[in-house]
Amino acid sequence: MKKNKLKKLLIITSGGDAPGMNAALRAVLRTALSEGLEVFACENGYQGLIDENFFSFSSRQVANCLQRGGTILKTGRYEAFKEKATRDRCRASLEKLGIDAMVVLGGDGSFKGASLLESEGGPRTIGIPCTIDNDIIGTEYTIGFDTASNTALEAIDRLRDTAFSLNNHFLVEVMGRAAGFLAVDVGIAGGAEFILIPEAPITTASLVHQLQHRKREKLASIIVVAEAGHPGRSMILAEEIMSLSGLAYKTCILGHAQRGGAPTVKDRKTAALMGYYAVKHLLAGHSQQMIALKDEKIIMVPFPDPALGARCFAEQELLAINRLICEI
Ligand code: ADP
Repeated sequence: MKKNKLKKLLIITSGGDAPGMNAALRAVLRTALSEGLEVFACENGYQGLIDENFFSFSSRQVANCLQRGGTILKTGRYEAFKEKATRDRCRASLEKLGIDAMVVLGGDGSFKGASLLESEGGPRTIGIPCTIDNDIIGTEYTIGFDTASNTALEAIDRLRDTAFSLNNHFLVEVMGRAAGFLAVDVGIAGGAEFILIPEAPITTASLVHQLQHRKREKLASIIVVAEAGHPGRSMILAEEIMSLSGLAYKTCILGHAQRGGAPTVKDRKTAALMGYYAVKHLLAGHSQQMIALKDEKIIMVPFPDPALGARCFAEQELLAINRLICEI
């Protein structure tokens, strides 16, 4: 543990955006300023380090951003950061500015970059998990998930109105990458007839069989389909259902609309707490770690290794979900 010689802190947002990032970076900034640190930021994630577009970050710059989705610091992917030569150049720029710590808001890819930068002699790093997919190993919650779930649920409620009126069946595709967290929450809350997630794959033939022998005859219904790493897969699924059974399903792919919008109370509050503790833990000498939520408590865990893949539902959780869905 390297004890408190922190003077200059840099904040970046990297990877995919998530609603609540602004609330998190605001909390990091304000906590750091109240601890007497000098705070810098740069735009566009790791690309900003190589471009050296650093700027002094003040309270005024985060005024009025709390309620906005996305990130005021912009974000992005910068493949060249995976090369040591690029990171060496970034490290030199950070040294020139005297940056001795960096808070990264992003996902496990971004944290891997931060971890390498620190191991190679760069500033101390702390990560704050931000993704609407809630799929980062080591934390039970990631900033943006609640907002995205509510956005998707609102869309489902709207679809229900028209589905009921016209006796339509819908496949509603939600994001989530290789995990089913979004699909399950939204499916349960939205009264879906089926929830198709990558952790419990079923064949289209089996789905059709279940649709043809359903417990309750339905004139209108919703099936929630997780994108499962293949955005647009619900279109193919609708065609397969039609050709196997003649059942007509309309598709609605919610896509990136789920990523935007004003963050919910839960996301703003979690972001505020995670941002606050990120700075406190840095001051206490911690680094190369991620802020995480476990049993409703904010803790620190080692940076997750992206090579281990994404967090998914465990088998026991799936059994419990299955029982719940079958019985209600
Ligand atoms: P996320 O952070 O949301 O998981 P990515 O996996 O796309 O998103 O990573 C975001 C950025 O983090 C990449 O564009 C790259 O700049 C950096 N990064 C990702 N993986 C690595 C890695 N293995 N080594 C160094 N930097 C990485």
